[in-house]
Amino acid sequence: MKVVEYMEVAQTNEIEIAKDYVNHLYKQVVERNPHEIEFHQAVKEVLDSLIPVLAKNPEYIKKSVLDRIAEPERMISFRVPWVDDNGNIMVNRGFRVQFNSAIGPYKGGLRFHPSVNASIIKFLGFEQIFKNSLTGQPIGGGKGGSDFDPKGKSDMEIMRFCQSFMTELARHIGPDTDVPAGDIGVGAREIGYMFGQYKKLKGSFEAGVLTGKGIGYGGSLGRKEATGYGLVYFVEEMLNNKGLGFKDSTVVVSGSGNVSIYAMEKAMQLGAKVVACSDSSGYIYDPNGIDLNTVKQLKEAESKRISEYVNEHPSATYSEGCAGIWQVPCEIALPSATQNELDKEAANILLSNGVKAVGEGANMPSTQEAVDLFIENNVLFGPAKAANAGGVAVSALEMAQNSARLSWTQEEVDQKLQVIMKDIYSKSMQASEEYDVPGNLVAGANIAGFKKVADAMLEQGVI
Ligand code: NDP
Repeated sequence: MKVVEYMEVAQTNEIEIAKDYVNHLYKQVVERNPHEIEFHQAVKEVLDSLIPVLAKNPEYIKKSVLDRIAEPERMISFRVPWVDDNGNIMVNRGFRVQFNSAIGPYKGGLRFHPSVNASIIKFLGFEQIFKNSLTGQPIGGGKGGSDFDPKGKSDMEIMRFCQSFMTELARHIGPDTDVPAGDIGVGAREIGYMFGQYKKLKGSFEAGVLTGKGIGYGGSLGRKEATGYGLVYFVEEMLNNKGLGFKDSTVVVSGSGNVSIYAMEKAMQLGAKVVACSDSSGYIYDPNGIDLNTVKQLKEAESKRISEYVNEHPSATYSEGCAGIWQVPCEIALPSATQNELDKEAANILLSNGVKAVGEGANMPSTQEAVDLFIENNVLFGPAKAANAGGVAVSALEMAQNSARLSWTQEEVDQKLQVIMKDIYSKSMQASEEYDVPGNLVAGANIAGFKKVADAMLEQGVI
């Protein structure tokens, strides 16, 4: 056999071995975590994209690195009792998954939403490992939350819930152990109540235990905007590399929360026209371009429904059902609400309307079928792990400022964020080229994020 032929056979064998290993591991993950469909989905995507890495580096298979990564270091589940305004005793369930600490303390947000369960927390925590690695900051992966529904609760009910939640969580976290932040349903107010309770329990001011804090007590300027701005910086980078940009483009952004609002703001600053956004009830379409001040007033200041936008803007229309937003024609789509909000059907509609780029602001907002369709049709696709990493990256900058007991200006933080997002883009592109999937940022981000964590695990032994 010629050397070239032999090499090809050897390579095929290595690929087959890697595929077998991945299939076996995935089966094991499903068996060990029954009914956790979101977690299975997140693991499958990562495993499939790592096949070429495993084929080239059999050491990762021999030392069971992925078997270990797919199993959380620790999963904590706890009772959260609290008293509502009528004196009723309520009980919720709290979670914290401490997934991987190979490259730094566990880091990841807390989500308060009725849909929260072990599967949601584990999918988010698993993705966080690779995302945090990609930022280049020394942070491991974690996530947490509760099935508590903040909608319709009074400020005092929110405070009592946050205090009870932290009463248990406090024993598991710390500035060098595990550093939670916000996510769906957890903003500056909730972080404030939780920080206050942590401080009271510990009897000391440990600023670095939570990020997303108020500016007056250790928060970072630019953190609030970081995920949305970072998303747009990332997508601008994808577009620029094809000679395109946000300027004069039509954009649709789902959601109207923290990520969505600041993604809209930055897209508008770069000259785009944002024509639609949504909440969990429905979406608005404003052909004149969304008035962001009205959205901020309704959602950030008054916690109202997005449907009320049309009262002030007769040019706009409101439609019930948030999934319909993808029918609005656009060149750039930024799904920024929640997981699996953009399915195959929605992807086909976006494609037929000529979408050029999709950037994931939310975590796993596109189903696997939707992602495959975008990639097959050469749509520029920025996966969540890379595209929305700006939030956690600035959280790490908040931790750095807390450790050094200083604070940077908004401009300094924004400058660093831009550098980080460009770096994530180029790392992911490079990895995609090195492993023969050029331009596939889903694979590139998974590979680049994985290798740093995997190599650290190998160096630290079997722990
Ligand atoms: P917010 O709570 O601020 O906003 C969430 C938005 O999404 C709201 O408009 C909400 O509508 C809508 N939404 C929530 N659940 C659903 C649902 N089941 N169906 C449709 N719409 C829904 O959260 P964030 O903006 O912080 O988070 C949004 C996404 O971004 C999440 O996937 C989160 O994990 C991800 N993310 C957030 C980061 C951050 O820094 N905040 C960092 C990285 C990722 P309504 O007002 O009706 O509740």
